[in-house]
Amino acid sequence: MTAPSQIIEVAIPLYLEKTFHYLVPERLQKEALTGRRALVPFGNRKLTGYILGSAIGSEISNLKEIVEILDRESLWTAGELEFYRWVAAYYQHPLGEVVRTALPAGINIQTRKGTSGEQESLIGGKSARREQFYLPGPVTVLPRQPGSKALEILAVIREIGDISAADLRKRFGACTPQLKRLTELGLCMAEEREVYRDPFKDHIVKRDEPRRLHTHQKGALDAISESLDRQQFTPFLLYGVTGSGKTEVYLQAISHALELGKNALILVPEIALTPQLTGRFKARFGGGIAILHSGLSDGERYDEWRRIRRGLARIVIGARSAIFAPLENIGIIIVDEEHEASFKQSDGLRYNARDLALVRGQMEQAAVVLGSATPSVTSVHAADQGRLKLLELPERVENRPMPLVELVGMKGRKETISSLLSASLTETFDQGRQAIVFLNRRGYATFLVCAECGKPLTCPNCSVTLTYHRQRGQSLCHYCDYAVPAPGTCPSCGGTTLSELGTGTEKMEHDLKELLPAARVLRMDSDTTSGKGSHERILSRMNDGSADILIGTQMIAKGHDFPEVTLVGVVNAEASLGMPDFRAAERTFQLLSQVIGRAGRGETPGRVVVQALDTEHYAIKSAAEHDAAGFYRQELEFRQEAGYPPFTFLAAYAISGLSEQTVSEQADKTAGLLAQLKAKLKIRVEILGPAPSPIYRLRNRFRRQILLKGVNRSDLHRLIATWRQQTLVVSTVRISVDIDPVDLM
Ligand code: ADP
Ligand code: ZN
Repeated sequence: MTAPSQIIEVAIPLYLEKTFHYLVPERLQKEALTGRRALVPFGNRKLTGYILGSAIGSEISNLKEIVEILDRESLWTAGELEFYRWVAAYYQHPLGEVVRTALPAGINIQTRKGTSGEQESLIGGKSARREQFYLPGPVTVLPRQPGSKALEILAVIREIGDISAADLRKRFGACTPQLKRLTELGLCMAEEREVYRDPFKDHIVKRDEPRRLHTHQKGALDAISESLDRQQFTPFLLYGVTGSGKTEVYLQAISHALELGKNALILVPEIALTPQLTGRFKARFGGGIAILHSGLSDGERYDEWRRIRRGLARIVIGARSAIFAPLENIGIIIVDEEHEASFKQSDGLRYNARDLALVRGQMEQAAVVLGSATPSVTSVHAADQGRLKLLELPERVENRPMPLVELVGMKGRKETISSLLSASLTETFDQGRQAIVFLNRRGYATFLVCAECGKPLTCPNCSVTLTYHRQRGQSLCHYCDYAVPAPGTCPSCGGTTLSELGTGTEKMEHDLKELLPAARVLRMDSDTTSGKGSHERILSRMNDGSADILIGTQMIAKGHDFPEVTLVGVVNAEASLGMPDFRAAERTFQLLSQVIGRAGRGETPGRVVVQALDTEHYAIKSAAEHDAAGFYRQELEFRQEAGYPPFTFLAAYAISGLSEQTVSEQADKTAGLLAQLKAKLKIRVEILGPAPSPIYRLRNRFRRQILLKGVNRSDLHRLIATWRQQTLVVSTVRISVDIDPVDLM
């Protein structure tokens, strides 16, 4: 008798709405389990598919057989699959693509089948084992015999908590007998562990102890701990001014979760994933931490992923994509700097990790802590309505005062550094203290203009001006990296006199070196931080006092704690206000508040000089006056009047292609169909556009957008879902739908 045929449901990572059914041949029946990948025939190709489960009751005829199973362990749990399905439905994205996005890219490289036909396991042939030494718990006895090397080794193990034999040998030379004796005496324990490529292996960190919390911190921690004890989903907004000790609250809340046997997921903006932050976690918790960020190679990332999947890491820290980390038994999810736009993925599956933290947290019955010194307007509104539980840290640690901010109006002035800022910089330098100058534009001149025909140099592929980079000797497009030698000649009229307009960080560096020739000036922007480790080098030079002034773009605004910085200068505060985006004021307020908050985090009070054309704009004024409440009040009024989030829900259609005419036709057609469906379904949704996108041409593609605005989220989603069923895009035009868009450029 033959076994009953097994039929499985498979998702395929292609832009296809539906999932597929396949037959499992008898030889694969034991292996074809949910959570594994299968090689499946598709058309005349073979593709990797994801097994979602068995498909009972399906028609057997015409089904194709799967070719082989690619994994020996399952890659996701049932709970994770539920999460993937939620994501696919909400963002209206094919499930197979969601699973592909959730899994690490390295998985495809490492689990190829060997030539012998023998399946390599998940570990692959490449892993090795090594010995690891750690403490068995509190130690009171010390060995009697003079064996000073053993004592030194023990001291190191105690300090670090968990160290490999190889690292010990690096420090002490051959020490096998000593290690053997220490282990025999029960003073430390040895364990064989699989070796994973550890991107932080060269950093040895000192252990630190939890700090005594101040009243507000304690209040916040108690509330979070209480929800952890109840093991019930509770979403919090931890709203604490810069330097108020939010990170300390996170650390102690995580400790509490770990004590309860639960695990912790921490999402941070990519930029914050510096050794500074990860070092604080390692110092507090020792081992068991996995770190996921874009600086890892596919292999390294896959290693971290496996460690998490196997339960070897109980704390996961990562940027946006870590929301898909295969961490089980999650007790707490923290989203630090929750207002950051980088939590939103801008292509493919356009998810927002901040929003998904709430979804996953609810599925896991976890505490979710959204933390920020400048929360998103949406979060403030949710807290007002009681949908987020508000925890406030209104004061800085040790009652350090917020810095004194002076506004300087620059209307009609030619100089880039005002006399107040230059006098303050000189004074700070003379006192031997550090300063930060913030200017959110990289390059030397924002653009070059031909003195003869008056035309600015623009990118041939994008509708933007080129930025002049003097050090490189190039004019550069910041969107497509198009570059021409600079200053060069005017491409329109051949004129040879090009004037430099607008100041970038490179010019600021030059000007400051002229102002203070003896000062050691550093610059941090994407030009100076492209090399591996360069970011950290700049930060460590600021921290060890071997630099006096740091100039930078928004990179310097976030998360860094420089206790010796007493002066912050802001040049061109309104740079981000000019964007044609309803969030421009919110972003400006957040950025300015964050930059202002870099001053006076140590013992000496800080001061800030903000230069702006319009010193009366509410975003600038409220940031300078530390009047966050005033800002949120005004901004929420504006959003309500104009009908923008959080009072409405948005979705953006982006239509792009190489032919201007086809793009325009497709955009009209799409808007027309949407209008028809809206009428048919009797849905209340506003359809705005099609209109040219603010950056009309990008990397040679013409771009138009349609914005959908709805008061009711499910109406809006129903309209898009119906549109998707009726549309088969086969033209050369790309149409993408962005649910809850963040970038409208
Ligand atoms: P935030 O994350 O809100 O910017 P941090 O948690 O980084 O603030 O705290 C700012 C500084 O104050 C850090 O150097 C931190 O170690 C220190 N700190 C935090 N909480 C306390 C406390 N209760 N007592 C003493 N120092 C603290
Ligand atoms: Zn370009």
